[in-house]
Amino acid sequence: MVGSSLRSSGARFFSSANLEDLNPVDRVAKIFKDDAVELKEKLLGKRTWSEKKKIFPSHCDVLIVGGGVMGYSTAYWLADRCQGNLRIVLIEKDPTYQKCTSVLSVGGLRQQFSLRENIELSLASADFMRNIKRNLSVDESDPPDISFNPCGYLFLASEKGAHVLQENHALQTSLGAVVELLSPAKLKEKFPFINTDGIELGCHGLENEGWFDPWSLLNAFRRKAIALGVECINGTLKGFGYKAHSQINHLMLPPGQYQHAEKAIIELEDGSERSINFAKLVVAAGCNTGEIGAMLNLGQGQQGILGAPIPIEPRKRFVYVVHCPDAPGLAMPFIIDPSGAYVRREGFGGNYVCGKSPSPEDPEPTCDNMDVDYEFFENEVWPLIAHRVPAFENAKVKNAWAGFYDFNRFDENAFIGLHPAFHNIYVVAGFSGHGIQQSPAVGRAMMELIIDGEFVTIDLKRFGFQRYYDDEPLYESNIV
Ligand SMILES: Cc1cc2nc3c(=O)[nH]c(=O)nc-3n(C[C@H](O)[C@H](O)[C@H](O)COP(=O)(O)OP(=O)(O)OC[C@H]3O[C@@H](n4cnc5c(N)ncnc54)[C@H](O)[C@@H]3O)c2cc1C
Repeated sequence: MVGSSLRSSGARFFSSANLEDLNPVDRVAKIFKDDAVELKEKLLGKRTWSEKKKIFPSHCDVLIVGGGVMGYSTAYWLADRCQGNLRIVLIEKDPTYQKCTSVLSVGGLRQQFSLRENIELSLASADFMRNIKRNLSVDESDPPDISFNPCGYLFLASEKGAHVLQENHALQTSLGAVVELLSPAKLKEKFPFINTDGIELGCHGLENEGWFDPWSLLNAFRRKAIALGVECINGTLKGFGYKAHSQINHLMLPPGQYQHAEKAIIELEDGSERSINFAKLVVAAGCNTGEIGAMLNLGQGQQGILGAPIPIEPRKRFVYVVHCPDAPGLAMPFIIDPSGAYVRREGFGGNYVCGKSPSPEDPEPTCDNMDVDYEFFENEVWPLIAHRVPAFENAKVKNAWAGFYDFNRFDENAFIGLHPAFHNIYVVAGFSGHGIQQSPAVGRAMMELIIDGEFVTIDLKRFGFQRYYDDEPLYESNIV
């Protein structure tokens, strides 16, 4: 397998000749020669910076597509585990991160989910973030700070949803989450500013919940991954090169038809195209993951396992920042109304962020721009939050932004695992509105899958593609 051997140095560079066009002997000779040239130039320090910038790795052990939290967390865990013995390359098309979901998120962390996996991922990630200085420091004098705001979520349920809240509470506490159920009377006692009309039950998080700065988390993973030897390239994945493997029989393909994707075609910022061979590929492209699936010919009119696309696509969501000096400030939990509208404090100056996903019967906003729909706030968000906390009747919008959920239209849950059509391509995407908080534990799970061949710490088998091919959706009831 090209590039699959563990390597003694994590920081080698090779020129970009097409290695796959060479016979095996010439290929080894070429790699050896490039290594020798690299070593010589490193020792003699002959290469200028502009020349170095032109160097593009010709092959790697693990190629990661996507430099959001999932890509960089996976890169960090792999590099930390293998300590320079694995060549890891990460490709990101948007170095300004203007559209990257990770930096446009609200940064909420909670344990209030309905699926065991989601609860365990968030508990483990909370623990990682609590120890972030120890885990991700590069320079001890400048440790990462993700500005964590401890503040419990308060999920509210009407009569219809109360039993779900109760069942979720039982599962969450059995797994170690510290959450309490509150009757309307108790809610009024604890949060007198909340209107409990139509509310049957509340569930409030007492530990490990709140929000943090998403950019700081992404940057901390990025800095640490780079310090551990991960090579980052600004470029856009455009397609793949394949090798026919007539000797490999894939159980779900006709004999002799398995094609092995082993080369990625990358368009660089200057418009030039380069290719890189990989042993393993991790698709961490967020809402663009379905597009990468199409590049892998999935869902492009073929039969059988190749016939199904990766059903992950962008869904635009708006976040509104409102100013409301009369609102409850520090006393206010992160409120999730039964309608799906949410509101939380932002800083200490009377500002709050709020939003809501569109109802299933409403049209989805188009995803070809980043424009904000202010009417959606007026008609769909403001009335709901002002009904629940009347102080918000005086809220004024100060700012707003749009971002894209990486939405799995099959069941709104993530795919974490090997794609069954390939022996070397992993997917980690489809987290809708709860990916950033789970990224520390998900990155570790990806590392385990790639290095150990199975999930070791948290069993995430149900998040694999099997459920999709078996048509057995796995629904999370607490999607916000
Ligand atoms: C408005 C909003 C609020 C949210 N609030 C929360 C919250 O409170 N809590 C929470 O946990 N989560 C929240 N989320 C969800 C969370 O932000 C995402 O689940 C998470 O950031 C996904 O990370 P990712 O790395 O998978 O994707 P991304 O951050 O989108 O990163 C994927 C990267 O892949 C790159 N890429 C794509 N295609 C290519 C290509 N062909 N070549 C090279 N690079 C490519 C993209 O440029 C992008 O940078 C929110 C999301 C939104 C939109």
